[in-house]
Formats: sequence, structure tokens, C-alpha cells
Amino acid sequence: MRYAVFGDIHGNLEALQAVLRALRAEGVDRYLCVGDLIGYGADPRECIAVVRALGGLVVAGNHDLAAAGLLDMQEFNPVAREALLWTQSVLTSEDVTYLRELPLVARTDAITLFHAALPQPELFEYIDTPQKAALTFSVLRTRFGFFGHSHVPVVFLGRPEAVLLDLEELPPLPATGTVVANPGSVGQPRDGDPRAAFLLLDLEERRLLLRRVRYPVERAQAKIRRAGLPPVLAQRLALGY
Ligand code: ZN
Repeated sequence: MRYAVFGDIHGNLEALQAVLRALRAEGVDRYLCVGDLIGYGADPRECIAVVRALGGLVVAGNHDLAAAGLLDMQEFNPVAREALLWTQSVLTSEDVTYLRELPLVARTDAITLFHAALPQPELFEYIDTPQKAALTFSVLRTRFGFFGHSHVPVVFLGRPEAVLLDLEELPPLPATGTVVANPGSVGQPRDGDPRAAFLLLDLEERRLLLRRVRYPVERAQAKIRRAGLPPVLAQRLALGY
């Protein structure tokens, strides 16, 4: 079984399409999305439609909930808030209903998906240190946990304590024990690499692979400017921050 794990798309259709092209070439059985389909980018409706059509598992991110009116926008910085208001102005009621119905946590036999740290994903805390990962490990009931939110790819092994792995040389996964990982961001990477990021999980081969793909950043930037969204949202895409 091969899983694609991806998220933090943020309305960047060019990046999403590049990722899905790469995934089709890899041969994937199931799509797992860790949330934030919209916010920041100029194609929220299109990104919702594309993710829905994949028929995979999807959880809600904080931007999804805010656009759907389920989270207070005062929690967001001014640029994110402006983008959310613009996003709300273009979403249809069907889009909003879809976002409203996304769960905060979703599970398969082996995998749990959530946007932010467990046990209270509704607080939208980052998981960016082994200490914070340890709390999520302590309540994880499946072998794998995938999350988003920070837009920075990380992989933690859970035993005997949370350990951060080197993404450049991810070893084969141990036969037992838990793994908690962030696939990075499709539509607004923040680790200094502007390429779209995602993870591939191959259960039989016990491999977790981080992939990066180039996409036409200028095209996504031009759409953001044309939509009248804050210019910084276009600029940061080229920097990967
Ligand atoms: Zn996000």
C-alpha cells in the first residue's frame, strides 16, 4: 500500500497540480491530506475541487475552519486575515459546507491524520520539537501520525523517546514503533526551499520518502497579485518562506 501525504495547499493550484502529477508517476493507492486547503493563494475553489475529487482522507486546518466561519479570524495575523476574507468572498456555499464538515482528526487502521498537535488539535499548536512531538506520541493510537500547520517537513520516531530524523537520509522505518511526521507544505513552503513538498509512505517496503517538486511559481504569484491579495503572499513563494 502506497500513501501520498500532503497538505498546507493554501489555494496554490499550480503547486497542487505539480504534486499530483508527481504522485501519479509514483503510483499511489491512497491520498491523505493534513488540511489547510485554502487561505493565502488565489485558487481556493479549484484546490477544494481537486482535493475532493481524489476521494482520500482529509482533515480540517485552521484556515479551513476560519473560512468556514468556525474559527475566530482574530486568531490570525493581518495578512492571513485579509487572505481569509478574500477567500470567503469567492467560496460557494457548497465549498463552505465541505470545509465545515471536515473532521479535526481522521484515522485508518495504521494512520492518524490531524493538522496540529494532539491531544487538542483544536488549539492549533505546532509540533516542531521532540518535546512537543512526545505529547502527540503519548496519545497516538496508530503506528503513524501525520500533521501539518508549520509548513516545515519533519519526521519523528517515537521510541524510546521522540527523535528528529535527518530528512536528507531517511532510513528504512523500524519494524515496530510509532512515527509522527509533517509532509511540509504544498502551496507555501517555509523551510527556505520554494519547491512543493509531500511525503510518500510505502508500508510494504517500510519507506517514508520526502519529495520536492518544482512548479510555476511566477504563475501562482501573478494570480495572487491580480486577485488583489497582499503582495507579500506572492513574494514569499519564491523564497520558500
Ligand atoms: Zn497552513
